Amino acid sequence: MKLPEFEYFNPRDVPSTLELLALHGEQAVLLGGGTDLLVRMKQGLLKPGVVISLRGVEDLRGIRKQKDGTLMIGALTRITDLLESSVIRRKYPGLAQAAGAVSAPPLQNMGTVGGNLTQETRCLYYNQSAMWRRSKPTCFKAGGATCNAVKGGSHCFATYQGDLAPMLIALSARVVLSKKGGSRAIPLEDLYTGKGKIPVRKDPDELLEGIILPPPDKNTVCRYEKLRLRQALDYPLVGVAVCLTLSEDKTRCVSGRLVLTAVGSGPVLVDDDGLMQDAEVSDDWIQSLAEAAYKAAKPVPNVLTPPAYRKRMARVLTRRALNRALKD
Ligand SMILES: Cc1cc2nc3c(=O)[nH]c(=O)nc-3n(C[C@H](O)[C@H](O)[C@H](O)COP(=O)(O)OP(=O)(O)OC[C@H]3O[C@@H](n4cnc5c(N)ncnc54)[C@H](O)[C@@H]3O)c2cc1C
Repeated sequence: MKLPEFEYFNPRDVPSTLELLALHGEQAVLLGGGTDLLVRMKQGLLKPGVVISLRGVEDLRGIRKQKDGTLMIGALTRITDLLESSVIRRKYPGLAQAAGAVSAPPLQNMGTVGGNLTQETRCLYYNQSAMWRRSKPTCFKAGGATCNAVKGGSHCFATYQGDLAPMLIALSARVVLSKKGGSRAIPLEDLYTGKGKIPVRKDPDELLEGIILPPPDKNTVCRYEKLRLRQALDYPLVGVAVCLTLSEDKTRCVSGRLVLTAVGSGPVLVDDDGLMQDAEVSDDWIQSLAEAAYKAAKPVPNVLTPPAYRKRMARVLTRRALNRALKD
């Protein structure tokens, strides 16, 4: 499979990247590690006129503690850099777990945080070669008017399968988006539309500059659990991220966040009816949260395992994540 032709730019700093984005807007794509983008381009799913590589933009690389105690993770930081960072391993171990669950070491060496967070949704009937796709009607994601995964479906159900976003949302991370003339920081969950066709809510001329993590709380515990076919490589079939801030004696959950991945078209922040606000930690409490996850998970038949199984596994993994987080 060959790459289509495109114009290539290799800026060296953020202002020139933003200038290029302002100039080429809609027809430009950003290249991080290329592990998601180049596969889609080779499959003919995307034919951008312009590719702007971020590889030379050193300002976007690295993990920096800021004066206010927050941590800034640049968009070009690789998954491997997260795994090798002593700050991440010590202060945000849940993030190190999620990073370790991404794919396999060769892809962790290439894949970047920015690329991971803005990766496309996926579908068994869409992420295929052009020849394979010709055997089916053109689907919503490819610009058609049908869904090949959900018979009679009125929109695209492609699944979001990123591993980092659920944990970063559970950690209440904010994302910094920049364009020529200004920047904004928004809660990471607001980056996602929850829609299969266009999963990321950002202007075409916007660059994801980085992620801001709040200072760690000594009573916060986090855990990431992932179901996949092959431990060595695969995308999540279900992923569960949980962060709990506990009382000093660890008998109460003061606050917390539970986030699912791979069971919808975006990361799913489980609306738990206040179950994680000042709640007594107990087996019944864990079971109620597992049920809330089960209800929130809305998988469809567009990855390799049946949706009913993945829905049940959302409950199982939530229970496991909570039990393991509480033991840490
Ligand atoms: C076999 C295989 C297995 C995989 N398994 C997993 C897995 O288990 N879990 C998982 O999470 N992912 C998985 N992936 C997807 C991918 O490898 C990772 O998500 C990786 O982190 C993507 O980062 P990248 O830098 O390579 O992204 P790229 O391919 O460079 O970019 C991905 C998208 O993000 C956009 N982009 C990149 N950087 C920015 C930026 N700074 N601002 C705005 N937009 C940007 C690009 O334009 C593109 O649309 C897998 C991929 C493959 C091929």
